[in-house]
Amino acid sequence: MPGRSLPGPDQRGLFIGGRWREAEEGATFTVLDPADGSVLASVADGSVNDATEALDAAAAAQEGWGASAPRDRAEILRRAFDLIRGRTDELAELMSLEMGKTIAEARGEVAYGNEFLRWFSEEAVRIHGRWMHAPDGASRLLTVRKPIGPCLFITPWNFPLAMGTRKIGPAIAAGCTMVVKPAELTPLTMLVLADILDEAGLPPGVLNVVPTSRAAAMSEALMADPRLRKVSFTGSTLVGRQLVRQSADQLQRLSMELGGNAPFLVFEDADVDAAVDGAMIAKMRNMGEACTAANRFLVHTDIAQEFAGKLADRMSRLVVGRGQDPDVDVGPLIDERAVNSIHQLVTDAVRDGARLVVGGSAPTGPGYFYRPTVLLGIRHDSEINRQEIFGPVAPISVFATEEEAVRRANATEYGLAAYVFTRDLSRTIRLAELLEYGMVAVNTGLISNPAAPFGGMKASGFGREGGFEGIEEYLETTYVALPATSRHQG
Ligand code: ADP
Repeated sequence: MPGRSLPGPDQRGLFIGGRWREAEEGATFTVLDPADGSVLASVADGSVNDATEALDAAAAAQEGWGASAPRDRAEILRRAFDLIRGRTDELAELMSLEMGKTIAEARGEVAYGNEFLRWFSEEAVRIHGRWMHAPDGASRLLTVRKPIGPCLFITPWNFPLAMGTRKIGPAIAAGCTMVVKPAELTPLTMLVLADILDEAGLPPGVLNVVPTSRAAAMSEALMADPRLRKVSFTGSTLVGRQLVRQSADQLQRLSMELGGNAPFLVFEDADVDAAVDGAMIAKMRNMGEACTAANRFLVHTDIAQEFAGKLADRMSRLVVGRGQDPDVDVGPLIDERAVNSIHQLVTDAVRDGARLVVGGSAPTGPGYFYRPTVLLGIRHDSEINRQEIFGPVAPISVFATEEEAVRRANATEYGLAAYVFTRDLSRTIRLAELLEYGMVAVNTGLISNPAAPFGGMKASGFGREGGFEGIEEYLETTYVALPATSRHQG
Protein backbone atom coordinates (compact mmCIF):
# COMPACT_ATOMS: atom_id res chain seq x y z
CA MET A 1 0.00 0.00 0.00
CA PRO A 2 1.67 3.26 -1.04
CA GLY A 3 1.94 5.64 1.84
CA ARG A 4 2.74 3.15 4.59
CA SER A 5 6.33 4.32 4.48
CA LEU A 6 5.54 8.03 4.75
CA PRO A 7 6.94 9.61 7.93
CA GLY A 8 4.49 9.91 10.82
CA PRO A 9 2.89 13.27 11.64
CA ASP A 10 5.67 14.17 14.12
CA GLN A 11 8.40 13.53 11.60
CA ARG A 12 6.93 16.01 9.15
CA GLY A 13 7.99 18.89 11.38
CA LEU A 14 11.27 20.64 12.06
CA PHE A 15 13.88 18.69 14.00
CA ILE A 16 15.66 21.18 16.24
CA GLY A 17 17.64 20.53 19.43
CA GLY A 18 16.56 16.88 19.46
CA ARG A 19 12.84 17.70 19.36
CA TRP A 20 10.19 17.71 16.65
CA ARG A 21 8.14 20.84 16.36
CA GLU A 22 6.01 22.93 14.05
CA ALA A 23 7.33 25.79 11.94
CA GLU A 24 6.68 29.40 12.97
CA GLU A 25 2.95 30.14 12.63
CA GLY A 26 2.32 26.49 11.71
CA ALA A 27 3.46 27.07 8.12
CA THR A 28 3.63 24.02 5.85
CA PHE A 29 4.34 23.17 2.24
CA THR A 30 3.35 20.14 0.21
CA VAL A 31 5.41 17.36 -1.29
CA LEU A 32 4.11 15.93 -4.56
CA ASP A 33 4.27 12.48 -6.12
CA PRO A 34 5.99 13.01 -9.51
CA ALA A 35 4.24 9.94 -10.94
CA ASP A 36 0.86 11.71 -10.94
CA GLY A 37 1.28 15.16 -9.38
CA SER A 38 -0.84 14.26 -6.34
CA VAL A 39 -0.04 15.51 -2.82
CA LEU A 40 1.99 13.00 -0.81
CA ALA A 41 2.42 14.94 2.42
CA SER A 42 2.64 18.36 4.03
CA VAL A 43 5.79 19.24 5.91
CA ALA A 44 6.72 22.15 8.17
CA ASP A 45 7.93 25.17 6.22
CA GLY A 46 10.81 26.58 8.29
CA SER A 47 11.23 30.35 8.52
CA VAL A 48 14.42 32.35 8.99
CA ASN A 49 13.64 32.45 12.72
CA ASP A 50 13.25 28.68 12.79
CA ALA A 51 16.56 28.27 10.99
CA THR A 52 18.24 30.64 13.45
CA GLU A 53 16.91 28.53 16.32
CA ALA A 54 18.38 25.49 14.60
CA LEU A 55 21.75 27.25 14.42
CA ASP A 56 21.36 28.23 18.10
CA ALA A 57 20.94 24.54 18.90
CA ALA A 58 23.90 23.55 16.72
CA ALA A 59 26.12 26.25 18.23
CA ALA A 60 25.13 25.26 21.78
CA ALA A 61 25.92 21.60 21.12
CA GLN A 62 29.23 22.23 19.33
CA GLU A 63 31.59 22.42 22.31
CA GLY A 64 30.40 19.21 23.95
CA TRP A 65 30.13 17.32 20.67
CA GLY A 66 33.56 18.47 19.51
CA ALA A 67 35.03 17.16 22.77
CA SER A 68 33.24 13.78 22.58
CA ALA A 69 35.21 10.56 22.20
CA PRO A 70 35.78 9.59 18.58
CA ARG A 71 34.76 6.04 19.43
CA ASP A 72 31.38 7.28 20.73
CA ARG A 73 30.78 9.19 17.50
CA ALA A 74 31.79 6.12 15.51
CA GLU A 75 29.37 3.91 17.45
CA ILE A 76 26.45 6.26 16.83
CA LEU A 77 27.16 6.22 13.09
CA ARG A 78 27.47 2.46 13.12
CA ARG A 79 24.17 2.06 15.01
CA ALA A 80 22.46 4.34 12.48
CA PHE A 81 23.95 2.24 9.66
CA ASP A 82 22.44 -0.91 11.20
CA LEU A 83 19.06 0.75 11.74
CA ILE A 84 18.93 2.00 8.14
CA ARG A 85 19.91 -1.41 6.80
CA GLY A 86 17.03 -2.92 8.77
CA ARG A 87 14.62 -0.37 7.31
CA THR A 88 15.79 -0.61 3.69
CA ASP A 89 12.40 -1.51 2.23
CA GLU A 90 10.56 1.31 3.97
CA LEU A 91 13.19 3.93 3.09
CA ALA A 92 13.35 2.72 -0.50
CA GLU A 93 9.62 3.05 -0.92
CA LEU A 94 9.57 6.49 0.64
CA MET A 95 12.34 7.70 -1.66
CA SER A 96 10.65 6.17 -4.65
CA LEU A 97 7.41 7.93 -3.78
CA GLU A 98 8.81 11.40 -3.25
CA MET A 99 11.47 11.36 -5.96
CA GLY A 100 10.12 8.93 -8.56
CA LYS A 101 13.00 6.49 -8.90
CA THR A 102 12.25 2.78 -9.11
CA ILE A 103 12.25 0.66 -5.98
CA ALA A 104 15.35 -1.17 -7.24
CA GLU A 105 17.20 2.12 -7.68
CA ALA A 106 15.97 3.37 -4.34
CA ARG A 107 17.20 0.21 -2.61
CA GLY A 108 20.53 0.81 -4.31
CA GLU A 109 20.60 4.33 -2.95
CA VAL A 110 19.80 3.14 0.57
CA ALA A 111 22.77 0.76 0.39
CA TYR A 112 25.04 3.39 -1.18
CA GLY A 113 23.95 6.30 1.01
CA ASN A 114 24.13 4.22 4.16
CA GLU A 115 27.66 3.16 3.33
CA PHE A 116 28.81 6.74 4.02
CA LEU A 117 27.70 6.29 7.62
CA ARG A 118 29.69 3.06 7.93
CA TRP A 119 32.72 4.45 6.13
CA PHE A 120 32.84 7.55 8.34
CA SER A 121 32.19 5.51 11.48
CA GLU A 122 35.49 3.89 10.56
CA GLU A 123 37.17 7.21 9.79
CA ALA A 124 36.06 8.88 13.05
CA VAL A 125 38.76 7.03 14.97
CA ARG A 126 41.54 7.81 12.47
CA ILE A 127 41.77 11.58 12.84
CA HIS A 128 45.38 12.40 13.58
CA GLY A 129 47.97 15.15 13.44
CA ARG A 130 51.74 14.92 13.15
CA TRP A 131 54.92 15.47 15.08
CA MET A 132 57.80 16.72 13.01
CA HIS A 133 61.34 17.96 13.40
CA ALA A 134 61.78 21.36 11.76
CA PRO A 135 64.34 21.21 8.95
CA ASP A 136 66.95 23.07 11.01
CA GLY A 137 66.41 20.80 14.02
CA ALA A 138 65.78 23.76 16.32
CA SER A 139 62.08 23.23 16.84
CA ARG A 140 59.33 20.69 16.72
CA LEU A 141 56.13 21.07 14.72
CA LEU A 142 52.93 19.57 16.04
CA THR A 143 49.57 19.62 14.25
CA VAL A 144 46.20 19.25 15.96
CA ARG A 145 43.02 18.49 13.99
CA LYS A 146 39.83 20.09 15.27
CA PRO A 147 36.19 20.03 14.15
CA ILE A 148 35.52 23.09 12.06
CA GLY A 149 32.29 23.95 13.91
CA PRO A 150 28.61 24.32 13.02
CA CYS A 151 27.83 23.51 9.38
CA LEU A 152 25.00 24.25 6.96
CA PHE A 153 24.11 21.49 4.50
CA ILE A 154 21.95 22.20 1.47
CA THR A 155 21.02 19.09 -0.48
CA PRO A 156 19.34 18.40 -3.84
CA TRP A 157 16.30 16.27 -4.65
CA ASN A 158 17.89 13.62 -6.89
CA PHE A 159 19.45 11.45 -4.15
CA PRO A 160 17.41 12.34 -1.06
CA LEU A 161 19.36 10.02 1.26
CA ALA A 162 22.87 9.79 -0.15
CA MET A 163 23.37 13.53 -0.65
CA GLY A 164 22.60 13.89 3.06
CA THR A 165 24.69 11.04 4.45
CA ARG A 166 27.81 12.01 2.51
CA LYS A 167 27.79 15.31 4.41
CA ILE A 168 26.24 14.24 7.72
CA GLY A 169 28.48 11.16 8.06
CA PRO A 170 31.83 12.96 7.97
CA ALA A 171 30.52 15.92 9.98
CA ILE A 172 29.41 13.60 12.79
CA ALA A 173 32.70 11.71 12.59
CA ALA A 174 34.71 14.93 12.81
CA GLY A 175 32.72 16.30 15.76
CA CYS A 176 30.79 19.03 13.95
CA THR A 177 27.19 20.05 14.56
CA MET A 178 24.88 20.95 11.69
CA VAL A 179 21.74 22.44 10.22
CA VAL A 180 20.41 20.52 7.22
CA LYS A 181 18.13 22.08 4.65
CA PRO A 182 16.84 19.27 2.44
CA ALA A 183 15.50 19.90 -1.06
CA GLU A 184 11.94 21.17 -0.88
CA LEU A 185 10.90 18.66 -3.56
CA THR A 186 12.06 15.64 -1.51
CA PRO A 187 12.39 16.48 2.21
CA LEU A 188 10.71 13.34 3.61
CA THR A 189 13.66 10.96 3.49
CA MET A 190 15.89 13.42 5.38
CA LEU A 191 13.28 13.76 8.11
CA VAL A 192 13.23 9.99 8.60
CA LEU A 193 17.04 10.00 8.61
CA ALA A 194 16.98 12.56 11.44
CA ASP A 195 14.67 10.27 13.40
CA ILE A 196 17.01 7.32 12.85
CA LEU A 197 20.11 9.25 13.95
CA ASP A 198 18.19 10.36 17.04
CA GLU A 199 17.33 6.74 17.78
CA ALA A 200 20.99 5.82 17.24
CA GLY A 201 21.90 8.12 20.14
CA LEU A 202 23.02 11.33 18.46
CA PRO A 203 22.91 14.02 21.19
CA PRO A 204 20.33 16.84 20.83
CA GLY A 205 21.45 19.77 18.72
CA VAL A 206 24.15 17.92 16.76
CA LEU A 207 21.82 17.43 13.78
CA ASN A 208 18.99 19.85 13.07
CA VAL A 209 16.77 19.55 10.00
CA VAL A 210 14.79 22.51 8.69
CA PRO A 211 12.80 21.98 5.50
CA THR A 212 11.75 25.21 3.87
CA SER A 213 10.25 26.59 0.69
CA ARG A 214 12.39 29.73 1.15
CA ALA A 215 15.89 28.39 0.64
CA ALA A 216 17.57 31.64 -0.39
CA ALA A 217 16.31 33.64 2.61
CA MET A 218 17.38 30.89 4.97
CA SER A 219 20.87 30.42 3.60
CA GLU A 220 21.43 34.16 3.47
CA ALA A 221 20.49 34.58 7.14
CA LEU A 222 22.52 31.62 8.35
CA MET A 223 25.59 32.55 6.31
CA ALA A 224 25.54 36.08 7.72
CA ASP A 225 25.89 34.55 11.19
CA PRO A 226 29.50 34.28 12.41
CA ARG A 227 28.71 31.11 14.35
CA LEU A 228 28.28 29.18 11.11
CA ARG A 229 31.72 27.95 10.01
CA LYS A 230 31.10 25.71 7.03
CA VAL A 231 28.68 25.32 4.13
CA SER A 232 28.45 22.17 2.05
CA PHE A 233 26.18 22.45 -0.96
CA THR A 234 25.14 20.00 -3.66
CA GLY A 235 23.09 21.51 -6.46
CA SER A 236 23.27 23.73 -9.50
CA THR A 237 26.31 25.78 -10.46
CA LEU A 238 24.08 28.85 -10.54
CA VAL A 239 23.13 28.56 -6.87
CA GLY A 240 26.64 27.39 -5.96
CA ARG A 241 28.14 30.60 -7.33
CA GLN A 242 25.64 32.59 -5.29
CA LEU A 243 26.59 30.75 -2.11
CA VAL A 244 30.30 31.22 -2.76
CA ARG A 245 29.71 34.99 -3.03
CA GLN A 246 27.55 34.87 0.10
CA SER A 247 30.32 33.17 2.06
CA ALA A 248 32.68 36.12 1.63
CA ASP A 249 31.51 38.12 4.62
CA GLN A 250 31.97 35.45 7.26
CA LEU A 251 34.54 33.49 5.25
CA GLN A 252 32.92 30.13 5.82
CA ARG A 253 34.76 27.07 4.56
CA LEU A 254 32.98 25.62 1.54
CA SER A 255 32.38 22.35 -0.26
CA MET A 256 30.65 22.80 -3.59
CA GLU A 257 29.34 19.79 -5.52
CA LEU A 258 27.85 21.47 -8.58
CA GLY A 259 26.75 20.60 -12.08
CA GLY A 260 28.40 18.25 -14.54
CA ASN A 261 28.62 17.64 -18.26
CA ALA A 262 30.20 14.20 -18.31
CA PRO A 263 31.76 12.99 -21.57
CA PHE A 264 31.47 9.27 -22.33
CA LEU A 265 34.30 8.35 -24.67
CA VAL A 266 34.22 5.15 -26.68
CA PHE A 267 37.40 4.43 -28.64
CA GLU A 268 37.74 2.25 -31.73
CA ASP A 269 39.45 -0.51 -29.73
CA ALA A 270 36.71 -0.67 -27.06
CA ASP A 271 34.55 -3.70 -26.33
CA VAL A 272 31.36 -2.19 -27.76
CA ASP A 273 29.02 -4.45 -25.77
CA ALA A 274 30.79 -3.52 -22.54
CA ALA A 275 30.57 0.15 -23.54
CA VAL A 276 26.80 -0.22 -24.08
CA ASP A 277 26.44 -1.88 -20.67
CA GLY A 278 28.43 0.98 -19.13
CA ALA A 279 26.38 3.55 -21.02
CA MET A 280 23.13 2.12 -19.67
CA ILE A 281 24.40 2.64 -16.14
CA ALA A 282 26.17 5.96 -16.67
CA LYS A 283 23.17 7.39 -18.54
CA MET A 284 20.17 5.72 -16.98
CA ARG A 285 21.09 5.48 -13.29
CA ASN A 286 18.47 7.59 -11.55
CA MET A 287 16.72 8.23 -14.91
CA GLY A 288 19.69 10.36 -15.90
CA GLU A 289 19.02 12.71 -13.00
CA ALA A 290 22.56 12.63 -11.63
CA CYS A 291 25.40 15.15 -11.87
CA THR A 292 27.66 12.25 -12.85
CA ALA A 293 25.29 11.14 -15.65
CA ALA A 294 26.90 10.64 -19.05
CA ASN A 295 25.86 13.80 -20.86
CA ARG A 296 27.83 13.72 -24.11
CA PHE A 297 28.56 10.44 -25.87
CA LEU A 298 31.71 10.85 -27.95
CA VAL A 299 32.21 7.74 -30.07
CA HIS A 300 34.91 6.92 -32.59
CA THR A 301 33.48 7.30 -36.07
CA ASP A 302 34.23 3.64 -37.02
CA ILE A 303 31.96 2.22 -34.34
CA ALA A 304 29.39 5.01 -33.85
CA GLN A 305 26.64 3.25 -35.84
CA GLU A 306 27.14 -0.03 -34.03
CA PHE A 307 27.22 1.65 -30.61
CA ALA A 308 24.15 3.80 -31.35
CA GLY A 309 22.17 0.81 -32.67
CA LYS A 310 22.95 -1.37 -29.67
CA LEU A 311 22.28 1.44 -27.20
CA ALA A 312 18.99 2.30 -28.89
CA ASP A 313 17.95 -1.34 -28.76
CA ARG A 314 18.57 -1.47 -25.01
CA MET A 315 16.91 1.90 -24.38
CA SER A 316 13.81 0.95 -26.40
CA ARG A 317 13.24 -2.08 -24.18
CA LEU A 318 13.05 -0.07 -20.96
CA VAL A 319 9.61 0.13 -19.36
CA VAL A 320 8.56 3.64 -18.31
CA GLY A 321 6.09 4.05 -15.46
CA ARG A 322 5.48 4.56 -11.77
CA GLY A 323 8.63 3.76 -9.79
CA GLN A 324 6.83 1.54 -7.28
CA ASP A 325 5.66 -0.84 -10.04
CA PRO A 326 8.10 -3.79 -10.01
CA ASP A 327 8.07 -4.10 -13.82
CA VAL A 328 9.15 -0.52 -14.38
CA ASP A 329 12.75 0.43 -15.31
CA VAL A 330 12.38 4.20 -15.69
CA GLY A 331 10.32 6.32 -13.29
CA PRO A 332 9.01 9.85 -13.75
CA LEU A 333 11.26 12.91 -13.85
CA ILE A 334 11.04 15.28 -10.93
CA ASP A 335 8.62 17.86 -12.35
CA GLU A 336 7.03 19.28 -15.46
CA ARG A 337 9.78 21.85 -15.90
CA ALA A 338 12.30 19.01 -16.26
CA VAL A 339 10.23 17.29 -18.95
CA ASN A 340 9.79 20.52 -20.90
CA SER A 341 13.43 21.53 -20.79
CA ILE A 342 14.59 18.04 -21.85
CA HIS A 343 12.12 17.96 -24.71
CA GLN A 344 13.33 21.38 -25.83
CA LEU A 345 16.93 20.16 -25.95
CA VAL A 346 15.89 17.11 -28.00
CA THR A 347 13.80 19.20 -30.41
CA ASP A 348 16.65 21.69 -30.92
CA ALA A 349 19.15 18.89 -31.53
CA VAL A 350 16.91 17.34 -34.21
CA ARG A 351 16.45 20.76 -35.79
CA ASP A 352 20.26 21.05 -35.83
CA GLY A 353 20.48 17.85 -37.88
CA ALA A 354 20.70 15.04 -35.31
CA ARG A 355 18.91 11.78 -36.08
CA LEU A 356 16.40 10.51 -33.55
CA VAL A 357 17.20 6.80 -33.20
CA VAL A 358 14.68 6.06 -30.46
CA GLY A 359 12.38 7.97 -28.07
CA GLY A 360 12.11 11.74 -28.30
CA SER A 361 8.75 12.34 -26.68
CA ALA A 362 6.79 12.34 -23.45
CA PRO A 363 4.01 9.78 -23.06
CA THR A 364 0.54 11.26 -22.65
CA GLY A 365 -1.21 11.09 -19.32
CA PRO A 366 -0.46 12.34 -15.81
CA GLY A 367 3.01 12.43 -14.30
CA TYR A 368 6.33 13.74 -15.55
CA PHE A 369 7.62 10.96 -17.81
CA TYR A 370 10.01 11.04 -20.77
CA ARG A 371 10.85 8.18 -23.09
CA PRO A 372 14.45 6.92 -23.16
CA THR A 373 16.00 8.65 -26.15
CA VAL A 374 19.05 8.20 -28.37
CA LEU A 375 20.21 10.88 -30.80
CA LEU A 376 22.99 10.33 -33.34
CA GLY A 377 25.00 12.91 -35.25
CA ILE A 378 24.92 15.66 -32.64
CA ARG A 379 26.82 18.79 -33.65
CA HIS A 380 29.57 19.41 -31.12
CA ASP A 381 28.38 22.96 -30.47
CA SER A 382 24.74 21.88 -30.02
CA GLU A 383 22.98 23.18 -26.93
CA ILE A 384 22.38 19.63 -25.69
CA ASN A 385 26.16 19.19 -25.48
CA ARG A 386 26.54 22.30 -23.37
CA GLN A 387 23.75 21.82 -20.84
CA GLU A 388 23.28 19.25 -18.14
CA ILE A 389 20.40 17.18 -19.58
CA PHE A 390 19.35 15.53 -16.30
CA GLY A 391 17.11 13.04 -18.05
CA PRO A 392 17.04 9.79 -20.09
CA VAL A 393 18.52 11.23 -23.29
CA ALA A 394 21.77 10.02 -24.88
CA PRO A 395 23.18 12.38 -27.54
CA ILE A 396 25.96 10.80 -29.60
CA SER A 397 28.57 12.66 -31.61
CA VAL A 398 31.64 11.27 -33.31
CA PHE A 399 35.40 11.87 -33.23
CA ALA A 400 38.27 10.70 -35.41
CA THR A 401 41.39 10.84 -33.23
CA GLU A 402 42.35 10.56 -29.58
CA GLU A 403 43.57 14.15 -29.63
CA GLU A 404 40.18 15.31 -30.88
CA ALA A 405 38.35 13.20 -28.28
CA VAL A 406 40.32 14.74 -25.41
CA ARG A 407 39.94 18.26 -26.76
CA ARG A 408 36.19 17.87 -27.13
CA ALA A 409 35.81 16.15 -23.77
CA ASN A 410 37.56 19.05 -22.04
CA ALA A 411 35.69 21.74 -24.00
CA THR A 412 33.22 22.53 -21.24
CA GLU A 413 33.24 24.70 -18.15
CA TYR A 414 32.41 21.59 -16.08
CA GLY A 415 34.81 19.00 -14.71
CA LEU A 416 33.05 16.40 -12.58
CA ALA A 417 33.02 12.93 -14.13
CA ALA A 418 34.31 11.42 -17.39
CA TYR A 419 33.91 7.88 -18.74
CA VAL A 420 36.38 6.16 -21.02
CA PHE A 421 36.03 2.85 -22.87
CA THR A 422 39.23 1.49 -24.36
CA ARG A 423 41.36 -1.66 -24.11
CA ASP A 424 44.62 0.25 -24.49
CA LEU A 425 46.44 0.66 -21.17
CA SER A 426 48.78 3.43 -22.35
CA ARG A 427 45.79 5.37 -23.62
CA THR A 428 44.03 4.87 -20.30
CA ILE A 429 46.95 6.37 -18.42
CA ARG A 430 47.24 9.29 -20.86
CA LEU A 431 43.54 10.05 -20.59
CA ALA A 432 43.48 9.87 -16.80
CA GLU A 433 46.14 12.59 -16.87
CA LEU A 434 44.72 14.70 -19.70
CA LEU A 435 41.03 14.77 -18.84
CA GLU A 436 40.21 17.79 -16.69
CA TYR A 437 37.82 15.94 -14.44
CA GLY A 438 37.69 15.13 -10.75
CA MET A 439 36.69 11.54 -11.54
CA VAL A 440 37.49 9.29 -14.49
CA ALA A 441 35.80 5.90 -14.90
CA VAL A 442 37.56 3.41 -17.18
CA ASN A 443 35.53 0.59 -18.75
CA THR A 444 32.76 1.00 -16.18
CA GLY A 445 29.63 3.11 -15.98
CA LEU A 446 29.54 3.19 -12.21
CA ILE A 447 31.74 5.87 -10.68
CA SER A 448 30.27 6.67 -7.25
CA ASN A 449 31.80 4.85 -4.32
CA PRO A 450 31.76 5.93 -0.65
CA ALA A 451 35.42 4.96 -0.31
CA ALA A 452 36.44 7.26 -3.20
CA PRO A 453 36.89 11.05 -3.22
CA PHE A 454 33.83 12.31 -5.10
CA GLY A 455 34.10 15.82 -6.48
CA GLY A 456 34.87 18.05 -9.40
CA MET A 457 36.96 20.86 -10.79
CA LYS A 458 36.20 24.07 -12.67
CA ALA A 459 32.47 24.95 -12.65
CA SER A 460 31.68 21.58 -11.06
CA GLY A 461 32.96 23.02 -7.80
CA PHE A 462 35.52 22.00 -5.20
CA GLY A 463 35.88 19.79 -2.18
CA ARG A 464 35.60 16.01 -1.97
CA GLU A 465 32.98 13.77 -0.40
CA GLY A 466 33.77 10.21 0.65
CA GLY A 467 37.17 8.54 0.74
CA PHE A 468 39.92 9.61 3.10
CA GLU A 469 39.46 13.13 1.81
CA GLY A 470 35.81 13.41 2.89
CA ILE A 471 36.49 14.04 6.55
CA GLU A 472 39.14 16.69 5.80
CA GLU A 473 36.35 19.03 4.71
CA TYR A 474 35.19 19.13 8.35
CA LEU A 475 38.53 19.56 10.10
CA GLU A 476 40.65 22.58 10.90
CA THR A 477 44.38 22.41 11.60
CA THR A 478 46.19 24.14 14.44
CA TYR A 479 49.96 24.00 14.16
CA VAL A 480 51.87 24.17 17.43
CA ALA A 481 55.49 25.38 17.49
CA LEU A 482 57.68 23.88 20.22
CA PRO A 483 61.39 24.40 20.88
CA ALA A 484 63.58 21.33 20.57
CA THR A 485 64.56 20.12 24.02
CA SER A 486 66.80 17.34 22.85
CA ARG A 487 69.29 16.87 20.05
CA HIS A 488 67.43 13.83 18.90
CA GLN A 489 67.08 14.02 15.13
CA GLY A 490 65.61 10.70 14.26
P1 ADP B 1 18.29 21.76 -8.77
O1 ADP B 1 18.24 22.46 -10.08
O2 ADP B 1 18.93 20.44 -8.80
O3 ADP B 1 17.00 21.79 -8.01
P2 ADP B 1 19.24 23.84 -7.07
O4 ADP B 1 20.62 24.36 -7.00
O5 ADP B 1 18.17 24.76 -7.49
O6 ADP B 1 19.34 22.55 -7.96
O7 ADP B 1 18.79 23.23 -5.68
C1 ADP B 1 19.64 22.50 -4.83
C2 ADP B 1 19.34 22.88 -3.39
O8 ADP B 1 19.63 24.26 -3.22
C3 ADP B 1 17.91 22.69 -2.95
O9 ADP B 1 17.89 22.27 -1.61
C4 ADP B 1 17.33 24.09 -3.08
O10 ADP B 1 16.27 24.32 -2.20
C5 ADP B 1 18.52 24.92 -2.67
N1 ADP B 1 18.52 26.30 -3.18
C6 ADP B 1 17.96 26.77 -4.32
N2 ADP B 1 18.20 28.10 -4.45
C7 ADP B 1 18.91 28.47 -3.36
C8 ADP B 1 19.49 29.70 -2.92
N3 ADP B 1 19.36 30.82 -3.62
N4 ADP B 1 20.17 29.70 -1.75
C9 ADP B 1 20.32 28.56 -1.05
N5 ADP B 1 19.82 27.38 -1.42
C10 ADP B 1 19.13 27.32 -2.56
